Amino acid sequence: LSVVIPCFNESAVLPLLHERLRTVLSTLGPTWEVLLVDDGSTDDTWRQLAEFNRRDGRFKAVGLSRNFGHQTAVAAGLAHAQGDVVAVLDADLQDPPELLGECLECWRDGDDVVYLVRQKRKEGLLKRALYSTFYRLLDHFSAVRVPRDSGDFSLMDRRVVDVVVSMPERHLFLRGMRAWAGFRQHALPYERPARAAGDTKYPLVKLVGLAADGLFSFSIIPLRLATWFGLLSVLAASAWGLFVLVWRILGFSFLGHTASELPGWTGGVLLAILFGSIQLMFLGVLGEYVGRIYEETKGRPRWVVRSLHGLPGADRS
Ligand code: UDP
Ligand code: MG
Repeated sequence: LSVVIPCFNESAVLPLLHERLRTVLSTLGPTWEVLLVDDGSTDDTWRQLAEFNRRDGRFKAVGLSRNFGHQTAVAAGLAHAQGDVVAVLDADLQDPPELLGECLECWRDGDDVVYLVRQKRKEGLLKRALYSTFYRLLDHFSAVRVPRDSGDFSLMDRRVVDVVVSMPERHLFLRGMRAWAGFRQHALPYERPARAAGDTKYPLVKLVGLAADGLFSFSIIPLRLATWFGLLSVLAASAWGLFVLVWRILGFSFLGHTASELPGWTGGVLLAILFGSIQLMFLGVLGEYVGRIYEETKGRPRWVVRSLHGLPGADRS
């Protein structure tokens, strides 16, 4: 069993995490390793990880050269994991390691992916509303069904890990990639506790970024929407044009005016604004995809490793 844990400035919670992991893992059965990925922390996270490794070689550490972001840190950990089965947890104990026992049982019964689904969210109202809107959009748009309220907290068979690691994309949305892999997937409900110590490392901007990656990496429907809007407005504009022509030619009075008095300035302005903004909006959507194509074609490594503890190997991927 490999346990992958991304850590970004988690020095406050690491001692607790270490304690809980040692207790849980010693009772689980299989041989295990813990891969802690330091995502460019500026506090003493790396020093603590090195110390864990010195005390027990089964705690291994991957230090990235800077902050690459949560999803990339998890991917780096997955790439180094050796286990036949791999778990992904957050460092802040919001994903209780105690649940791994139940996950392992499902895996032994033949499930290839066991993912945990949040029953009750402890976040504030705004975050909850955003989450629910996002998952609803994703449900409608995505060709792959990404289970609602699933997170990265999961246990994956080696076959699934190999699929996910082999995906070369830079904009990672792991819960979607995991769903894309297929195999036998099983949901386990759990109540997500609050962060055990320290502050969140996911400000709203980063969350919105993750949501954009989820939507745009798993669906081209926003592009197709542009086509639909375009068709609709062509229809509406044709009808309106035809009417104006008839109005002008027949010279009848509409809303108290005939066409030759040239009323309709307001309507003209409104239409210009409407179509202007629709175009701008879809230019933005196009931009999202073009930007992603640009970043993928650059083909840069997705992360750079600064140093390793307890691990052999390559320094980039
Ligand atoms: N994290 C990371 N890199 C980042 C941000 C977060 O590796 O740039 C890690 C963080 O250390 C934690 C996990 O990702 O283990 C989830 O972050 P957090 O708990 O702060 O997010 P929240 O639960 O508040 O959404
Ligand atoms: Mg958290």
